[in-house]
Amino acid sequence: MPELPEVETTVRDLRPRVVGRSFRQVDIQVPRMVRAPSPEGLRQELPGRLVQALERRGKYILFRLDRGALVVHLMMGGALMWAAPEGASGPAERARAKHTRLAFLLDDGSELWLVNPRTLGGVWLVESAEQVVGRLGPEPLSDEFTPLYFAARLKGRTSPIKPLLLSQEVVAGVGNIYADEALFLAEIRPQRPADELTPQEVRRLHSAVRAALERGIRHRGTSLGDFLDPFGGAGTHQNQLSVFRRQGQPCPRCGSVIVKEQFRGRGTHYCPSCQR
Ligand SMILES: [Zn+2]
Repeated sequence: MPELPEVETTVRDLRPRVVGRSFRQVDIQVPRMVRAPSPEGLRQELPGRLVQALERRGKYILFRLDRGALVVHLMMGGALMWAAPEGASGPAERARAKHTRLAFLLDDGSELWLVNPRTLGGVWLVESAEQVVGRLGPEPLSDEFTPLYFAARLKGRTSPIKPLLLSQEVVAGVGNIYADEALFLAEIRPQRPADELTPQEVRRLHSAVRAALERGIRHRGTSLGDFLDPFGGAGTHQNQLSVFRRQGQPCPRCGSVIVKEQFRGRGTHYCPSCQR
């Protein structure tokens, strides 16, 4: 977390606030979160650059600049929050959200706060965003992600299906929540080896990945941890979950009890009756 739907919600909300603005200053509280260039390099290089577009790629937030790109990843939790211009008070005087690790001051006096409790997130200022996101698989909601492509990428893979969904290389943007939800929708056990899925199951999973993510976006993301939208509001998708963190509760499809197992280091939720 946050995964594709949470990042998409953030980007859609922020876009009208930041496109056309330029960066004035950056305040770095946790220097190691600056992955490229150095913290001092970011401080010197970012001011004056203009945001031409704001996009999402996988779980990354991309600021396309007049020169290069600023890339942000929240990793294990947090939010990119927007704070309205606040009169004459400078950035140092403003009370920021708790766990703000980097603050970007824009030319209209508004601020972007990178709120990241565990400080595992990162920012990159690079010549091309592809330097950071170039290895990602296709966007799951794009035309590039077809059932044929998906089948070809799963063919011959002996790995269980869930870690492949999480790998970001077969498809971008899926994390633990939406992998468990998609596998539930497709009636497939997370532990099944990928190359043992039937063509029909692969097609079902392809649609299920899209459906799970679209539902997440429609409900403005899942706020089970510390995800908030840029204005501090919570998503509501946590109320729509079928299996994720619903262990011990009845399966919405068949009524059996949902189980949670540790699988390859991730809490994995599924219905042992109707997921096969
Ligand atoms: Zn069931």
